[in-house]
Amino acid sequence: MSQTSREPGPFPPPKKEPPIITPGKSDSDPPSDATVLFNGKDLSSWRSADKGGDAKWKIKDGYVEVAPGTGDIATREEFGDCQLHIEWATPIEVKGEGQERGNSGVFLMERYEVQVLDSYNNKTYYHGQAGAIYNQYAPMVNASRKPGEWQSYDIIFKAPKFDEQGKVTERARITVLHNGVLIQNNVGIYGNTWHDRPALYIAHGPKASLKLQDHSNPLRYRNIWIRQL
Ligand code: MG
Repeated sequence: MSQTSREPGPFPPPKKEPPIITPGKSDSDPPSDATVLFNGKDLSSWRSADKGGDAKWKIKDGYVEVAPGTGDIATREEFGDCQLHIEWATPIEVKGEGQERGNSGVFLMERYEVQVLDSYNNKTYYHGQAGAIYNQYAPMVNASRKPGEWQSYDIIFKAPKFDEQGKVTERARITVLHNGVLIQNNVGIYGNTWHDRPALYIAHGPKASLKLQDHSNPLRYRNIWIRQL
């Protein structure tokens, strides 16, 4: 839809009643219309992304921990435009430096990574620190908590669109809050987030799995829920 500055807006505005929903008891609890992807008890909503079959990560006291070497995990259900809440903690025992310290990742549509990293007193390239759209956009601020402390991402994601030839017609857009702080403000993703080559779009369908990365570090995740938009 295009509108020049001289055209009036729609009046009266379209009549569509916003659905009534019940918010969670805290802002991190899933509201009534969310799909809970992990409630601390089981990984039934997840599969092994690389190897097929069930997700092999370990469930402990209400959280799931990356089991290094078992590979990425992905949701069985697929999503396009969405609002995602996810909580994570990097290992209390600090090991390694830069990209080797507390690395994981939240991949929207299995392709577009919001970096998860221990970025508390840990220098690395800016577009690779926690909250970066990996290798594309550094976060606006570093809102990282200490190793072992629970942190959150609230993500609003709009899927890319492609024409029949597979050319991107609308880039994916993403907004990220890290621990409640805005760190990515509706940025346009350039394509798949690779570490060794420029971002590029490869056409895909309107929905795909949410994927979490096994980068060989025992990251923890909990309270994962999503709202399809
Ligand atoms: Mg990563």
